[in-house]
Amino acid sequence: MTKILIVGGGYAGFYTAWRLEKLLNPGEAQVTLVDPLPYMTYQPFLPEVIGGSIEPRHVLVSQRRHLRRTRVVTAEVEKVDHARKVATLKPEHGDAYEFSYDVIVVTAGSVSRTFPIPGIADNAIGLKAAEEAAWIRDTIIDNFNRASALPPGPERQRLLTFVVVGGGFAGIEAFGEMRSLATDLLEDYPSLQFDDVQFHLIEAAGRIMPEVTEDGAVAVIKQLAERGAKVHLNTQVTSAVDGVVETSAGDKFPTDVIVWTAGVMAAPFVKSNTDLPVDERGRIRARADLRVEGDDGVIRDAWTAGDVSAVPDLSGGGVGGFCVPNAQHAVRQGKQLAENLVATLRGRAPKDYYHENLGAVAGLGPWNGAFRSGKIMLVGPLAWLAHRGYHGTAIPTIERKVRVFTDWFNTFFLGRDFVPFSARQHPRASFERFASKPRPKPAEEPAPASPVTDAPVADKADAKPAQAPKTVNRPTAKANAE
Ligand SMILES: Cc1cc2nc3c(=O)[nH]c(=O)nc-3n(C[C@H](O)[C@H](O)[C@H](O)COP(=O)(O)OP(=O)(O)OC[C@H]3O[C@@H](n4cnc5c(N)ncnc54)[C@H](O)[C@@H]3O)c2cc1C
Repeated sequence: MTKILIVGGGYAGFYTAWRLEKLLNPGEAQVTLVDPLPYMTYQPFLPEVIGGSIEPRHVLVSQRRHLRRTRVVTAEVEKVDHARKVATLKPEHGDAYEFSYDVIVVTAGSVSRTFPIPGIADNAIGLKAAEEAAWIRDTIIDNFNRASALPPGPERQRLLTFVVVGGGFAGIEAFGEMRSLATDLLEDYPSLQFDDVQFHLIEAAGRIMPEVTEDGAVAVIKQLAERGAKVHLNTQVTSAVDGVVETSAGDKFPTDVIVWTAGVMAAPFVKSNTDLPVDERGRIRARADLRVEGDDGVIRDAWTAGDVSAVPDLSGGGVGGFCVPNAQHAVRQGKQLAENLVATLRGRAPKDYYHENLGAVAGLGPWNGAFRSGKIMLVGPLAWLAHRGYHGTAIPTIERKVRVFTDWFNTFFLGRDFVPFSARQHPRASFERFASKPRPKPAEEPAPASPVTDAPVADKADAKPAQAPKTVNRPTAKANAE
């Protein structure tokens, strides 16, 4: 049996495996999917996790539950030696080990791309994972709780100031959801006023959301401004030391929450730890048929798709001639890759990947959205409905769709759930505080000086028997614990 190894079970990897399960005949190939996470993350819903409209778990699609014929291994691929067709797998616990394969599919996605700005690595948070989105939501709610107990002043202002860096789709969606969450929260905190809460989005370019029209982008900025959220264009973050965001315009915003969404870069390990060819941006070089390509042509038995790869965009719509890193491409490339891989196993030629951009939809908080398809550009409630309609049906598996729609139904009729769950980061704190602990063991008492042993012994016959030191019965640590 051909052994197929898929590196990364996000969008592209999950869809590749899913489609392979449908296409492969029994016994034709054995598919192994390796990912340090046991789930794929439906990233377009992360802003709604921040807003509290969707529960964090419901944007995660379990690989094991839905990939029944695929061997799922929860581990990180540390290294790929394609010349030997061996990958090194490192589980969270235990030693790394080598895994031999016949065909490799690299779909390891991307990570947040940052710059060496002082303080960013220590104080900012990305938005690529449900854990990050849940932290942002909980911290906003926790900060409202803390601020409501403080008098007006710098500490309260810091707790109520929120900064997002990067005005792409992800950044603007997160910003809009954060703002709408904060506005709803204010109803429960009479001591806090609308103007006490500050939202700043810092964007280095002269506009936001390159995926929508210029007019649409301006309309979104205007709408955010009306909701009390300020977008700073042509502005860069110069420092974030101690959580004080300083900008090239001279502003300073002390804050607890700095969300970094200023771009992504291909998973760095493909450049540093594989012998697969990468381009100047660290993406795996791909042909339009999704096979990996080196200087001398196709690299046999190596495939790639999604954010980690530089796939030519034959529709002419890509940046620099390549598909932009988005889910639209990752999903379709994953499916096409599976079809092409099976075709080559059966001696047929692979087909080129071709996809014309469908447009873009963004949710900016309940009843606020942006939508562009061709020349149609909408900002407002209709666009928001389009966002929900598209993504609600696009999240993979019926099971997850039902959970997401149920969350929306509940939020619509019951309102957002404002209970923060940040205490889960220290789940043992309460138990530990009140748990009965063994008393510390007393220091050993020095033995009383013995006249027999300390005095020079002149004559053994005259010597008195040495006095045994008194035994004191104190509970030992072990006895106390028992
Ligand atoms: C907030 C946000 C909103 C977005 N909204 C949209 C949208 O509305 N529309 C749209 O089209 N796109 C959107 N995107 C982009 C889209 O989510 C990504 O382009 C898509 O997830 C890329 O899929 P992928 O499979 O390449 O990578 P991912 O989905 O990131 O999957 C990569 C997988 O590889 C795994 N991995 C990484 N390194 C290793 C390793 N060494 N070994 C094993 N496994 C590894 C990771 O754990 C991960 O599971 C959004 C992104 C974000 C962050």
